[in-house]
Amino acid sequence: MRIAFGKGDKQWTNHSPSKLTEQLKPEIAKFGRMLEFAKRFEAVCIFIPIVRLLKMWGFSDEFRNSMVFPLVALFFGTGNQTPLVSSAIISHVFLNPDLKIFDYSPERLLSDVPETFTFPVLQHVFCAMADQGGYHISCNRPVKRVTRPGKGVEVEDEQGVKEHFDDIVFACSAEIILKVLQNPTWLEKTLLSQVQYYLDYCITHEDTDYMRRMYVGPGQEERIDQDNYFVRQYPEAPEKIEMSFNLSTYQEHMKKGGIENPPPLYQTYYLDASNRHLWTDREVDESKIISKRWMRQFAHTYRHFARWVPFGRFIQGGGPGHCTFFAGSYTLFNTQEIAMMSGLAAAERLGADYPFPHDKLASSQFDMFLGVVHGVTRRNKGNEKAAKDSAAEQEAAVARAKEPKGQKEGSLLKAPILPAEKTAAPSIDLAPPADKQAEIAKKPTSTAAA
Ligand SMILES: Cc1cc2nc3c(=O)[nH]c(=O)nc-3n(C[C@H](O)[C@H](O)[C@H](O)COP(=O)(O)OP(=O)(O)OC[C@H]3O[C@@H](n4cnc5c(N)ncnc54)[C@H](O)[C@@H]3O)c2cc1C
Repeated sequence: MRIAFGKGDKQWTNHSPSKLTEQLKPEIAKFGRMLEFAKRFEAVCIFIPIVRLLKMWGFSDEFRNSMVFPLVALFFGTGNQTPLVSSAIISHVFLNPDLKIFDYSPERLLSDVPETFTFPVLQHVFCAMADQGGYHISCNRPVKRVTRPGKGVEVEDEQGVKEHFDDIVFACSAEIILKVLQNPTWLEKTLLSQVQYYLDYCITHEDTDYMRRMYVGPGQEERIDQDNYFVRQYPEAPEKIEMSFNLSTYQEHMKKGGIENPPPLYQTYYLDASNRHLWTDREVDESKIISKRWMRQFAHTYRHFARWVPFGRFIQGGGPGHCTFFAGSYTLFNTQEIAMMSGLAAAERLGADYPFPHDKLASSQFDMFLGVVHGVTRRNKGNEKAAKDSAAEQEAAVARAKEPKGQKEGSLLKAPILPAEKTAAPSIDLAPPADKQAEIAKKPTSTAAA
């Protein structure tokens, strides 16, 4: 993973020395001491935004705006709320051996280039999972309304089709839950409305000139083809940033398909529409734009840890009939790992066994999540037999994935490039027929995941 922050004199990366890191070396060393402090006094620092702690320790604007904020924004996708991210969380990203993403370098802040790997085509993974499970999945059926009539849950989709379930796991944003859930309890309403969302804008494009103009100085043009992530500050507001990705550098599938130098493909994120006056989206060549999209993103500022995280557990499994669970990265902080863990945690609460007890790191993170977000401990914790069984099961699953039945080309581990018509999900109904819905409704136990 190669990251480039800033431009020209202000540029620094995780792979090469730079003028800026040389100039700010004493502050980089002091930052290491501050991280140790934040980790040691975590119970207090969880409520102190990073901007305040940096000011208390006397860091310069240059160090804050050019190094710390862009870096944290990138780690967490916290965009322009980055100054308000909790300082204890930032200390974990650098110092916690189980959670850290980069090693802190007292010389250059970041000096390692973590290896990245690409997942197989996820659609194939999910289709294989759906094939193996005995459950039913409906796609393209947005939930419009959820009611809890006393026992169980009634879910109505946008077409007005209703189904009844014993339990529900909401895996969409807190905003959407509040929109679709009829008669939320007072506590659900109060707590879910504490999760704060911002409006961002994303353009997918092929405009290499835009990338060069915005992200590199003269003579550094080739960087655009080599680095994965780019972060720049707006000159008029150095504490606000814009992020871009060179998606071509992630296209392992294309290489496997024999395309060594895929054509350039970029994605640029304009953050927090209240800063729209700073955005340069109109400078992207319209003829090179592939798609544009508005998106809602939550930000785990220190307020998130003060007003939502410690209390969210009190609505997990609640509602009439004790049937409602909440999953998604907003339940703790904004990473994909948390999003995945939150789904496994809801499954554990509903009676499923945690699937990776043999994996020490994964299970310790899961236990932490379960404790903080659900206020419970794992049922099979410490059960050696369960751990052994799960390890054997996982090995068998990997072996099955290596030799998929009836698939000559590609597998879960070796992702092929398939023409669009071949990528249609084999086992997932895009719009289930009405008779199937009646069949589903008859099943004795069921859980809806919205
Ligand atoms: C630019 C950027 C870069 C990031 N980089 C990283 C990174 O490098 N590493 C990392 O760990 N994290 C990263 N993140 C954060 C990470 O992507 C998120 O934390 C994660 O994807 C959130 O997953 P989620 O399942 O909670 O929510 P989402 O992925 O938002 O899923 C919610 C789902 O709910 C569905 N939905 C909405 N309304 C309805 C409805 N009415 N009915 C049914 N379904 C509905 C939506 O379609 C969506 O699929 C990044 C985020 C951004 C924006």
